[in-house]
Amino acid sequence: MSYVNMRDMLSKASHEKYAVGAFNIVDAMTAAAVVRAAEAKRAPAIIQTSVKTAKLYGCAFLVATVKALAKKANVPIALHLDHCKDLSLIHSCVKAGYSSVMIDASSFPFEENIRMTKEVVEMAHPHDVTVEGELGAIVGVEDDIHVKEQESHLANPEQALEYVSQTGVDVFAPAIGTAHGIYKGEPKIAFDLLGRIAGEIRAAIAIHGGTGLSDEVFKKCISLGGAKINISTQIKHAFKDSLSEYFRKSPQVYEPVKILAYMRDKVQEVIESFIEKFGSEGKA
Ligand SMILES: [Zn+2]
Repeated sequence: MSYVNMRDMLSKASHEKYAVGAFNIVDAMTAAAVVRAAEAKRAPAIIQTSVKTAKLYGCAFLVATVKALAKKANVPIALHLDHCKDLSLIHSCVKAGYSSVMIDASSFPFEENIRMTKEVVEMAHPHDVTVEGELGAIVGVEDDIHVKEQESHLANPEQALEYVSQTGVDVFAPAIGTAHGIYKGEPKIAFDLLGRIAGEIRAAIAIHGGTGLSDEVFKKCISLGGAKINISTQIKHAFKDSLSEYFRKSPQVYEPVKILAYMRDKVQEVIESFIEKFGSEGKA
C-alpha cells in the first residue's frame, strides 16, 4: 500500500476493467487533494507532474511531498513524471525516487523512439520504477511539446506491437485521437485501433487527454482496455476557478491558508468525480 509504482495497480485495473486516474498536480496542495480524494473513494491513484512542475520545484521536493502524503494514506499512490523527452531529467527523477516515468520520444523516428525508450527502461527497472512510452502523436499542447492537428497521427498497430515488445515498457500510450487541452468539437476516437492494440500487447494502456471526454467515451475506452486515464486541464481549471470564486465571494480575506484549503476541497471534488467515472472507487 501507500507509495507504489504503477505495475500492480494497472494490471489489476486492466483485468477488472476499470481505470486508475492519473492526475496532474502543480503543488503540495493539489497533491494533497489527489490523496484525499483517493482515500475518500478508497481508490488507487496516480499523481503526475509535468516537466514544468518538476523543474519548478525540483524532483526531490516533489518526491518528499508525495511520499509523506502517500505513507499516511491507506490506498496505493504512484508518483509519475508525465511526457518527458529529456533523458537527464528522467534520470534525475528516477534517482530522486519517482516511482514511475514517461519517456515521450514519439516525435522522433520510430527506431529512435525505440532506442530512447529502451534506454529509459534499462535505467528505471533496476530501481523498480515503471516506464510509460508513446507512439503516434497526440494533438495539443503538453508542456513544451506542441502537436498541431495536421501533424498528429495515430499509432500504427504493427509498430505498437514491435515498440512494446522491443522496449519492455510497462505502460503504453497510443495516439488514438484524444487530445491535450480542451476539445474543439466532438473528438474522433479510433476505438477499433484501441481495441486492436490492447488485445495484442502485454503493457497496460494509458489514455491521454481525458479532460472533456464524455462518460460514454470513458466507458468505451475502459471496456476496450484503457487502464490509466490522464486528467490535467480540468484540474488547472478547478485550481483557477476556485481561486476566482473565493475572491468573488470573500474579497476581504487575505489569509492564504483559508484560500488554499478552499481550493484543495474544490480540486478534490473534481478528482472524486473522475474516480467515480473511471470505476476505480472501492478498488484499493
Ligand atoms: Zn499526455
